[in-house]
This record gives sequence, C-alpha cells and structure tokens, in this order.
Amino acid sequence: KSLTIAIDGPASSGKSTVAKKIAAELDLIYVDTGAMYRALTYQALEKNVNIKDQNALVQLLKKTDITFEPNEKGQFVFSNGVDITHDIRDNNVTNTVSVVAAHPEVRKLMVKRQQDMALNNGVVMDGRDIGTVVLPDADLKIFLVASVKERAERRHKENKEKGIFSDMDQLKKDIAERDYKDSTRDSSPLKQAEDAIRIDTTKMTIDEVVNEIKQLIQK
Ligand code: C5P
Repeated sequence: KSLTIAIDGPASSGKSTVAKKIAAELDLIYVDTGAMYRALTYQALEKNVNIKDQNALVQLLKKTDITFEPNEKGQFVFSNGVDITHDIRDNNVTNTVSVVAAHPEVRKLMVKRQQDMALNNGVVMDGRDIGTVVLPDADLKIFLVASVKERAERRHKENKEKGIFSDMDQLKKDIAERDYKDSTRDSSPLKQAEDAIRIDTTKMTIDEVVNEIKQLIQK
C-alpha cells in the first residue's frame, strides 16, 4: 500500500511549503486542495457566478476541470487547460474562497475528486479537512499551527519577495478572518483530527518542520 500523508491547519501555517518538500523527497504526489477551492472561486469571479448560490457553483464545478502539473518550484495549477497558478493567489480570490468552500454540495464534489487522486497513489495532501474527512485512514496526520503574528510576517515576506507591499495589520486581520470562517462553518470545518499530531511552527524553520515530519513517518 502506498503512503498517504494528511496535512491540515489554518491559513498560511506553512502547509503547502512543507507538503511540497515532503512529496518531492519521498516521491509522492502533492495535492493542494486549497488550490482546488481557489480555482473554483476564480472561475466563479471570472464568469460572474454568485458565490452565495450553491447550485450555480455546483453546476460550474461540474464543468471545471482542475489539474496539477509538477515543476521545479512546486506545481502549476490548470483549469480547463489554462494556467491559473498565479491568478488563484490574488487577494480577491483569497478573500472570497471561504464563502465558496462553505457550501456542503461543493465540498462533496471536491472531496470525491480529492479521494480519487489518492486512489492507488502515494500522496501528501494539504487542506482543512484532509485528516477528518478526505483521508480519514491516512498513514500520518499532521496539524500545523503558528501564531497569527508569525503567519502574517511570513506572508509579508513572501509578498515583498514578489514585489508586493502589504500592510501588516491588514494581513493579520485577513488571516484571522479566514481562520474564523473556516473553523466556524457547518460543513466540515477546520478541525484537528483526533489522531493528528500537532506541530506549532511559530519558532521553527521549514527544514525543522520537514525533518520532524520525516521522523514521524519512520516511526
Ligand atoms: O490552503 P489555502 O489557504 O489555499 O485554502 C484556501 C481556502 O480554501 C481556505 O481558506 C478554505 O476556505 C478552503 N479550503 C477548504 N478545505 C480544504 C482546503 C481549503 O475549505 N481542504
């Protein structure tokens, strides 16, 4: 049986950076489930689909194909053949994706796609409900957390490297708001699985987190 690793946690807790590294080192497929909700949100905004209309989103999702293609830096995200890797990180997507992800019928379809990607494949999957809903039998479940201040600082640094100036207070507010929405929605809210191992990355480097997870895999 191939290895399945679930990594959950709040916004900007370092999940994707860590998951990518582990997948590359262990030759597993990396599935960024947040990118899937972002891709649907991006398509809805592009096509003027009301993000509060669950049925309209379900219809849109059925016509929306979302695929990943690995590259040196991580992976490209394609939707209906178009590269949307950068578009899905835009602020307008980031600040509305939680509304799209709160619809139970949208989640049902996404979960099915995610489970299919893990069929017969070794995967590292990151998101909010991987250990609780998508891969309840994962070989290893990790729950990553970090303080809001630390997460805002990481985001600030990332943005600066991309030449984008961001206001620290606004970043903190946006992160706290997304956490609140993701953890208080009715449909599979962000929650640590009972058998997940919690790692607080506030004072850790990425390599330290990766090494700790690798040690847990060997156990
Ligand atoms: O991980 P990322 O920040 O890219 O996720 C974007 C949003 O997608 C989250 O804030 C959350 O609303 C939603 N999401 C989710 N379930 C997942 C992954 C992401 O609801 N498994």
